[in-house]
Amino acid sequence: MHVSELKDEKIISDILKLKVERKAIILAHNYQIGEVQDIADFVGDSLGLSQQAAATDAEVIVFCGVHFMAETAKILSPDKTVLMPDLNAGCAMANMITPRQLNEMKRKHPDAVVVCYVNCTVETKAESDYCCTSANAVKVVKSIPQDKEILFIPDKYLGDYAAKQANRKLILWEGYCPTHRRILAEDILRMKAQYPKAEVLVHPECTPDVIAMADRVLSTSGICKRATESESEEFIIGTEIGMLHRLVKENPQNKFYSASNLADCHSMKLNNLEKILWSLEDMVYPVEIPPDIARRAKRSIDRMLEIV
Ligand code: SF4
Repeated sequence: MHVSELKDEKIISDILKLKVERKAIILAHNYQIGEVQDIADFVGDSLGLSQQAAATDAEVIVFCGVHFMAETAKILSPDKTVLMPDLNAGCAMANMITPRQLNEMKRKHPDAVVVCYVNCTVETKAESDYCCTSANAVKVVKSIPQDKEILFIPDKYLGDYAAKQANRKLILWEGYCPTHRRILAEDILRMKAQYPKAEVLVHPECTPDVIAMADRVLSTSGICKRATESESEEFIIGTEIGMLHRLVKENPQNKFYSASNLADCHSMKLNNLEKILWSLEDMVYPVEIPPDIARRAKRSIDRMLEIV
């Protein structure tokens, strides 16, 4: 056995031991590196993971994802300790709008309803009326009375997609995911020429020209579900490349091709086995949210859950 494999085995057994001692569970977002997904209790999207964790009697949640995801877990499990193995794991899109910028926007549109994509900070959620995910953005937008103006933040591409699907005019913030923006329409064209039988599944954080070329536009959970249910044997996947690990693992008989190898989110790749072990050993880094902000952010999540 290779030395690095022996090292990994030791780390894995130490993590598993500490997990029991701490009454901890490990959550991994679909974009995490393979070794992190493989040791996790749950792998999924940010809201789904936070809901799954809240339903357990674990006392500690190690969230392998980015900041806003660990914050969402803390909002839904205020009595559990939520740890982030690497504090540098931020989301570029979430940081594209601040509560101050949102409040300026609200002042210009005083009667508007604010819908925030879950990929934003807890402070931004606290200033919003409704939260939404990539899976339910269309439903949330459709549920808002026609005569209401809607400010959709921070993802202009998800907002554009929701606006078209719901046939509503939305006021969009200029935010976007730099990772998904690296997937180009040319990439889809090239991949379709190479794999003509493949089904094209893309995430709604992609640009409108990429979305227009897809067979289906789905959240990460939606992509997993479709890959399992579809009759197709080949898929071109238009989202962050970490997604392929789970798809291949769950559907070994099928072939999955990343639409672009440039769709690699640096923040999502910061977590690894060593950092999970340190996190459990030293109980770092705990997520703390001021109670008033947590309460107001939770209100926007609860309002979404009432709709969906
Ligand atoms: S893939 Fe995009 S939206 Fe997701 S964490 Fe990275 S920057 Fe944020």
